[in-house]
Order: sequence, then structure tokens, then C-alpha cells
Amino acid sequence: MSDLHEAGEQPGDQPAAAAYDRILPVATPAQVRAYARRLTLAYPRQLGLALGLHGLAAMAGLAAPRLLGDLVEDVRHGTSHWTVDRIAIALAVFVIVQGVLLRFAVYASARLGEKVLARLREEFVDRVLELPLSTVERAGTGDLITRTSRDVDVLSRSVRHAVPETLIAIVTGVFAIGALVLVGPLTALPCLVGVPLLWGGTKWYLARARKGYLWENAAWGSVTAGLTETVEGARTIEALRLERRRVARTDADIAGAWAAERYTLGLRTVWFPMVEVGYVLPVVATLLMGGLLYTWGLASLAQVTAATLYVQQLIDPLDRLLSWIDELQVGGASLARLLGVSEARAERPRAVARPADERITVEDVRYAYREGHDVLHGVDLRLRPGERIAMVGPSGAGKSTLGRLIAGILRPRTGTLTVGGVPLADLPLEELRGEVALVTQEHHVFKGTVRDNLVMARQQATPAEVETALAAVQADWVAELPDGLDTQVGTGALTLSPAQAQQLALARLVLADPHTLVLDEATSLLDPRAARHLERTLSAVLDGRTVVAIAHRLHTAHDADRVAVVEGGRITELGGHDELIAEDGSYAALWRSWHGGERTAVRNQAR
Ligand code: ADP
Repeated sequence: MSDLHEAGEQPGDQPAAAAYDRILPVATPAQVRAYARRLTLAYPRQLGLALGLHGLAAMAGLAAPRLLGDLVEDVRHGTSHWTVDRIAIALAVFVIVQGVLLRFAVYASARLGEKVLARLREEFVDRVLELPLSTVERAGTGDLITRTSRDVDVLSRSVRHAVPETLIAIVTGVFAIGALVLVGPLTALPCLVGVPLLWGGTKWYLARARKGYLWENAAWGSVTAGLTETVEGARTIEALRLERRRVARTDADIAGAWAAERYTLGLRTVWFPMVEVGYVLPVVATLLMGGLLYTWGLASLAQVTAATLYVQQLIDPLDRLLSWIDELQVGGASLARLLGVSEARAERPRAVARPADERITVEDVRYAYREGHDVLHGVDLRLRPGERIAMVGPSGAGKSTLGRLIAGILRPRTGTLTVGGVPLADLPLEELRGEVALVTQEHHVFKGTVRDNLVMARQQATPAEVETALAAVQADWVAELPDGLDTQVGTGALTLSPAQAQQLALARLVLADPHTLVLDEATSLLDPRAARHLERTLSAVLDGRTVVAIAHRLHTAHDADRVAVVEGGRITELGGHDELIAEDGSYAALWRSWHGGERTAVRNQAR
């Protein structure tokens, strides 16, 4: 945070600096341009229609200055009522035609905008869903939430308004300039005095705007991240009396966001006045020069009038263009952040080969959540297909980390972790799900039908397979639901009990049918009765699979084929229960203390 503060004090330097090395990547300007181009050209027919209609509307709008110029000339030489009326009628007709054309043009471009937007959102959702879990964990959810909410909103505004308005402004502007030159090149020249101001000012602004808006977005991301963390960890914060520190963090985040906003506001307060002057100068210059040209006999009154009106008409598209450039910058920054998500996705390269067998091998694996702080220091483990291995050890020793590595969620920093000879973390997600799965105590019920919640594990599962999976986990209650498998569950619909949610999760596992399972604290949250029931269900699911159980109660270890003792990020003992007891090492000590405790508990209960 302090880095952000310092950046806030010196808005000139690298605003979006290294304070955010933890957030998800951001796409480069070239990537953003290429993507915007691809998206713009994705619907060529609709784009052509919208541009054509806007062009026609702009052309209709160009008639007025010419007619008015002629009118001034005619009045100067004396004219009849009839001529004036005719010109007035012609003006009215052109205005109406322009209005009607504009209506259709706006409709066409709005439709195009919505189409592009829908596509953008769909692509973004795909990108997010492909993110490796480890990336999301490392980046923190705040950044991702900001990207899915604020950045998507900002971009929607850009696509809905900025993109069509910019296109319209370009079309109208080009036509106005063309008309101006046609009226007379001499009368067109004076308007060039505005160019240096507009050009210079905008260039200065654009050079700083992207950085500024990226900084702004990242600063808001930090605010969201901080608030989310505070809300999610409210109880912990209360328990540890961290309130004041959290308030300070929020204050610092808001100060950062304020500094970022102030910086971009500063940019606008310099740029806007320059642009305003840049608009007015050409009108004044055209009028002045036009007057001189007229007195020298180099231009007619009609030409000077029309030219001045055209220059006046140019202000509107120019203003739109420049003000939307601002919005486009903001949108571009958001797009860069949305596209950046797919950079992170690239972390999971496609494996070339398919696993030769079901053997999972861990060799000299090290892992660090933060650079330079390994939590696993060279772990070796060969899982034997079909065995049940229990991992025991003190809390913080690295059991869960090793479990998530074996489940393919984390990627080893060094060393290899393979299934059938293929690096586990390189497998495409759908294939990985068929090899190994992590079973935790978190069971989200997705909004949708019960069936949706099951087949997400394997889209091509047949109805019979779904039934078999439900039977395997003894979820008889599904049949008793009002609509059976088609009952809506999740937020706003039927709420399932934790035990039911757990059964759905297990049925999902049966459908995905991985040969290896990593169990992490699978039963600790349920009440004992539900836990016993679950254990029976679970043992049906585990049957015939290789199981790595992160054991929090030692009786699981007693029943396992092998026990791995994890201490300080290493496997220090490995072998059968009796073998390790005989060796009289850490495991034997653990077992004795646990067993003693258990006996005492039983004795206490008996009293
Ligand atoms: P265990 O499961 O044996 O209790 P873990 O694998 O959860 O141990 O943790 C091993 C070490 O890694 C601990 O020092 C823990 O603080 C750290 N750790 C675990 N998860 C994360 C994380 N998401 N980010 C940073 N450090 C972590």
C-alpha cells in the first residue's frame, strides 16, 4: 500500500507501479488494439449498415449551411419571397430527412454495440472460468471481482456509447471537412489554426491517460480487495482485535484511490480548456479571414457564410470525438484488464501426451506461495494404485499444500509431479478431473437443477449414469423432490442441507470417476451422526480408488495402508501403521498421545 501512497505523491512517475505485482496481468496496448479490431470487424454487415446510415444522415445535415449561404447571397442582391420560402422548405425537408436517417442509424449502431458487448461478456466469462485456481488464490478475489464488476461496467459504457459515438463523429467530421473544402479551399484554410492546440493538447493527455486510468482501476481493485477481506474475515478480525488495522488499511486504500482520481482529474483540467479554445479559434479565424477574402473579392458572401457554418458544424463531431477518446481510454484500460485475465490462463500449457497409467509420482517437489518462502522442501512420494495413504503431522506442516499439488490445483515450483509420466498440472481441466480430484468440506450448490449440479462433472453423462451416481451416494431424497432431478436448487430456490450438498458433491465425483482422490478434512464440519452416514457413503465412493487422506484424526491413519508423516514441509516417515509404531518415531509419539487422550475421553464419558 505504501508504494501506492508514494506514487500518489508524485503523479508524474509510473503511477501503476510495482505495488500491484500480486494482481492478475494486464494486456499490452497492442493486444488491446488487436482485440478491439477483431471485435469491431466481427460483424462486418451490421457495421457497414450503421456506418452507411450515419454517412447519409451526415450528408443530409450538410445541405443547411449551403442553403443558408445562398440565402444570404440572394438577400444581399435582393430576392423574392418565393425564393426565400423555397429555401426554407428545402431546409425543413433536409432536417426531417436527417432526423429520420439518424433514428435508424442510431438504432443500427446500438444493436451492433449490444451484440459486441454480449460477445465480450461471454468471452470474459470463458476466460475467468479457465483461470487456474492457484492464480485466483494468489491474486486474491478482490481483483477478479473488480474486473468482473467495475471493469465490465466501464467497458459496457464504452461499447454502448463511446464506440458508436466515435464512429459517428468520424463520419460526420469527414463529411463536414469535405464540404468545407468543396465550398472553397481558401475559406477552408483558417480553420487550421485550431489544429496545433487540439493536436498538442490531446497528445499530451493521451500520453498520460492510459497509465492514469490503469492506476485508478488498480487502486479501486485494492479498495474492493480490502473491503472483501474485511467482510469475509469479520469474525477473525473481531477475535484478534484487528479493527483499527483494517480501518487504517481501508483509509490507505481510499487515499490511494483518491490520489489516482486526483491525478486523472488533473489531466482533464489541463486538457479540456485547451480543447475548448481549440474549437472557438477556427470559427473566429474563418470569420475574420472570410471577411478579408470577401473585401479582396476572393470569396463570395455565400462561401464565407457556408464556410463559417461548416466550421461551426465541425465543433460538434470534434468535441464528441475528443470527449469519447477520454471514455475510450477508460474503456481501453478496463479492456486491458479483462484481456489480461487470459494471460494468466496461459499458465496451464496443454499436455502433449496422455497419461500412460494411473501412477502418480512426486519427485523432489518444492512449492512456495510467496517467492523465496518454500513451504515444501523436496518431497518424494510414489502412490501405489488402489492404496489408501494417510498424511499426518502438525498443523502448518504442508499437508494441505501437498494435497493440492497432488490434486493438480497447484503447480510445483521445482521438481516433477506426474500421472502416468505426464505433468499433472499440464493436463487440460476436463482430463484432469478424470484423473484426480480434491474432496474438501466446501460444497457449493450451484444455482440450477439438481441435474445441472451433477453433470457439470461430466457433460456427456447419460441419465442412467446420473441415477447410478446418486444411488452410489445413497441420495434417495432426490427422488422425493417435487421435480426430481429437475428441481431448482441453490440461491433463491430450494436450499439443500450441508449433508445433501455433500452428497451431491460426492455424486459429482462418482460421475467424474477419477482414479485418485485427495481428501482434505472431508468430515470435520458435519455433526457426528451425519459424519458417520457420510463416512459410509464416502467409503462406497472411495472403493477401488487410490486415496490420499489428509488425516486430522488418527484413526483414519490406523486404517490406512500407509502413513506419511509430514513435518516442516518434508515427509519424515513413511510406512504402515504397525511399522511406524515399531520404529518409535514422530508417528509413534503422535499415536501414543492421541490414543492416550482418546482413552481419557472414554474414561471420562464412562464416569
Ligand atoms: P497443513 O495442511 O499441514 O496444516 P498447509 O499446507 O495448509 O499445512 O500450510 C503449509 C504452510 O503454507 C503454512 O506455513 C501456511 O501458513 C502456508 N500457506 C498455506 N496456504 C497458503 C496460502 N494460500 N498463501 C500463503 N501461505 C499459505
